[in-house]
Amino acid sequence: MQLIVATRNAHKTREIQQILGQDFAVSDLSAHPEIPATREHGKSFEENAMLKAIGASSHLPGLVVADDSGLEVDALGGAPGIFSARYAGKNATDQQNIDKLLKKLARVGARETQRAARFRCVIALAREGALLGTFEGAVEGTIADAPRGQSGFGYDPVFVPRGFEATFAQLPAVVKNKISHRAKAIRALSRKLAALKLTD
Ligand code: IMP
Repeated sequence: MQLIVATRNAHKTREIQQILGQDFAVSDLSAHPEIPATREHGKSFEENAMLKAIGASSHLPGLVVADDSGLEVDALGGAPGIFSARYAGKNATDQQNIDKLLKKLARVGARETQRAARFRCVIALAREGALLGTFEGAVEGTIADAPRGQSGFGYDPVFVPRGFEATFAQLPAVVKNKISHRAKAIRALSRKLAALKLTD
């Protein structure tokens, strides 16, 4: 089954391909420079995922999915949340976002037990401008005192999933892609895609 991911973030595309496996041919908007970036002005992950999926699928044939995701830190009242990608500014690097997060946590004096956090992901599925469904996943964990590890992207070097001592950036991709917020949302999406396959 062919699936287009409404993103230009190669990390997300790679993870979605790995999670879905070889029955799916996953591509993204890097092959479609003509499609404008969607303004993510929604107030939730769900709204932003829907905006991106509906927007891109009105320019493209076939099934389009969009992932909107981010990190919620309890000691920061759920920040950075939907602003995760641009926490330290519009074109912030992952390193700048992590630095800002750790500084804020230090400022509020959040020690180990207060560093609870979760990644959330909402995947929206659309075809020809019409929404077919949304699918959610979350993974609980804590924020490490300092970045550790090289793999993954975004806040992976400071996120320690519950039940592990390593950060997402230290764990092998196959482990992250089994337990992550994105893996859970994609598993729910897969059930919907299996149903569509039967009826199309
Ligand atoms: P979006 O592209 O608007 O959905 O922004 C997602 C942002 O959330 C990313 O740029 C990362 O900063 C963060 N994020 C989402 N998923 C992950 C993940 O799996 N690992 C690390 N950071 C993530």
